[in-house]
Amino acid sequence: MNDGMSSIKDILSPFTAWKNLFKEPVTIKDPLRERPGAPRYRGFHKNDVNACIGCGTCESICENEAIDMVPVEGFNPKDGDSGLRPSIDYGRCCWCALCVDVCTTGSLTLSNEYTWVDTDSDNFRFIPGIDRKSWENNEPGWKKPGNGYELYDLERVKMEHLGPEQRDESFIEIIQGFSKEQAEKEADRCVECGICTATCPAHMGIPEYIKAIRNNDLEEGLRILYETNPLPEICGRICTHKCESVCSLNHRGEPISIRWLKRYIADQNPAEKYKEILETDTVNKNGKKVAIIGSGPSGLSAAYYLSKMGYEVEIFEKLPQAGGMMRFGIPEYRLPYDQLDKDINYILSLGVKIHYNITVGKDITLDKMGKEFDAVFAGTGLHLGRSTRVEGADHPHVYQAIELLRKITLEEEIHVAEKIVVIGGGNVAMDITRSLARLQKQKYGKVQVIATSLEVEEQMPADREEVVEAREEGATIFPGWAPQRIEIRDGKITGLHVVQCLSLFDAEGKFNPQCNLDNARFFEGDMVVESIGQGMDLSYISEDIKEDLEMGPRGRIKVNDYFQTSVPWLFMGGDTIQGPDVIHGIANGHKAALGIDKYLFGDKN
Ligand SMILES: Cc1cc2nc3c(=O)[nH]c(=O)nc-3n(C[C@H](O)[C@H](O)[C@H](O)COP(=O)(O)OP(=O)(O)OC[C@H]3O[C@@H](n4cnc5c(N)ncnc54)[C@H](O)[C@@H]3O)c2cc1C
Ligand code: SF4
Ligand code: SF4
Repeated sequence: MNDGMSSIKDILSPFTAWKNLFKEPVTIKDPLRERPGAPRYRGFHKNDVNACIGCGTCESICENEAIDMVPVEGFNPKDGDSGLRPSIDYGRCCWCALCVDVCTTGSLTLSNEYTWVDTDSDNFRFIPGIDRKSWENNEPGWKKPGNGYELYDLERVKMEHLGPEQRDESFIEIIQGFSKEQAEKEADRCVECGICTATCPAHMGIPEYIKAIRNNDLEEGLRILYETNPLPEICGRICTHKCESVCSLNHRGEPISIRWLKRYIADQNPAEKYKEILETDTVNKNGKKVAIIGSGPSGLSAAYYLSKMGYEVEIFEKLPQAGGMMRFGIPEYRLPYDQLDKDINYILSLGVKIHYNITVGKDITLDKMGKEFDAVFAGTGLHLGRSTRVEGADHPHVYQAIELLRKITLEEEIHVAEKIVVIGGGNVAMDITRSLARLQKQKYGKVQVIATSLEVEEQMPADREEVVEAREEGATIFPGWAPQRIEIRDGKITGLHVVQCLSLFDAEGKFNPQCNLDNARFFEGDMVVESIGQGMDLSYISEDIKEDLEMGPRGRIKVNDYFQTSVPWLFMGGDTIQGPDVIHGIANGHKAALGIDKYLFGDKN
């Protein structure tokens, strides 16, 4: 509606605006004059490049493709860091701050600086934290809201496991495995950065198989596992999980339970369906024969990939069952035999033959194998025990850990004393300590086993959970003591004399333990077990072949990238070359299979 007053105002208004005629427009002045943004203003990016690990999660989330991961001088790829850093393109950025919300390390933030005048449009692409900017030390800006706001869960889904009272007398499996709901919840936490893949010795497609869990496509998950690892039930239980130690979620929360998720996929796929899922029903033979010495992870992995490529594969194994240290070292409460067999039987179902109870070098010579087969892969592991050689170590009730573990698997009767002292602080020492604790509980109704290591507790090489669980099962751990002498009275062991160990290495980093002789202790026991490492037995290699073998450092045989020795038909892998763990053996066996194929058929395959 119109009245008289408003019509006069309408007439005068244009004239009042003339008073601004000679004023500079605000739009020109404002980009040029300093005016701080509000504290929570979403301004230009900042990145703490030393905290950033180059995981690229920020790049993946950016809907506008405003982020590119780029190499930066001084940041080289290493475990847990891709060496790349995010570069931002302000021609694309809409300041949504999703990249900040998702940043796994919390290194990426936004300043509240919003003015940037430049005539060169290329300058609006820059690497925060590297290309120095005036807002580098600008504190206010966009931060994640408080109250625990996170785009993803920082805590892992808890794994069900048997309590000490349920497990201390038996060898039944401790870890129970994920349900579907738990596995999917845990898989949801994965940001798919792939930092883990780079670190895994077998370079498994970890984000891809975790995604298969999210998609509830476990057959696809199994196919992804077998691309790089033919022992997923095994690795899903006992892998040293180097992937988890570099998981980008580790930086602010708990790493993804990658190992248990792998196990979930393998557990859910029934063995009878493997051939159909993995399409290994019919493999065409290529007419070549490969011999493998040892049925440990490296030998089995080489056998799997070779037989998939059409090779006829025969394994020669000195023990009566397959699996190497996976069966004859790792106790069943960590790796049950039926799960070990599930992986091994599938490999054998591809036509791989195993000759059991055949020791190469004794029952058949390596020279003969070299002539009868087109190539040989040797994965013979570390099976010689090492002794402390302290006084009394030659007593018949002083044992080597691996000898006892082998006998437990073979169900041979072993001497289980009422009081036992184990020397060693590694995982093998914990395995024998915990196995003996179970046997003591069965025999005497109580546990009296002491494990003592040179290393102080923080430096013990055993996994933390192994030490904790050993204590829960009744073992006593005394770290930081050096064995001096085994006390023997009337032909019987009564215990171990130790002194305090002050340090293990000298200034040059050489193993040279220093002890305080004034601080001594006596650990009572009528049986002593030594678990201080293992050595390799290469006596199966004849002098003729040894002459042609090039040696590397630390008495190891030199191999090329394909684990081929300087004797062209002889390939070697696993603990004798690299490790010691199962996943290195698997990776070596796979690479050696590819190397053997290359050696026999050139690059055409
Ligand atoms: C107690 C214990 C616990 C372990 N726990 C873990 C763990 O939790 N996670 C992990 O990743 N790793 C673990 N390891 C290490 C892991 O088992 C080894 O790194 C791995 O098995 C090595 O694989 P490999 O293929 O080199 O040979 P091995 O597994 O050692 O197998 C070698 C095979 O070769 C056979 N052999 C040797 N010489 C001859 C010959 N002349 N003729 C015929 N056959 C022969 C042996 O009988 C054996 O079967 C553990 C080891 C031990 C001892
Ligand atoms: S603020 Fe949003 S648009 Fe800008 S780089 Fe980050 S995610 Fe991409
Ligand atoms: S998400 Fe964070 S840690 Fe990962 S690359 Fe981006 S800035 Fe770096």
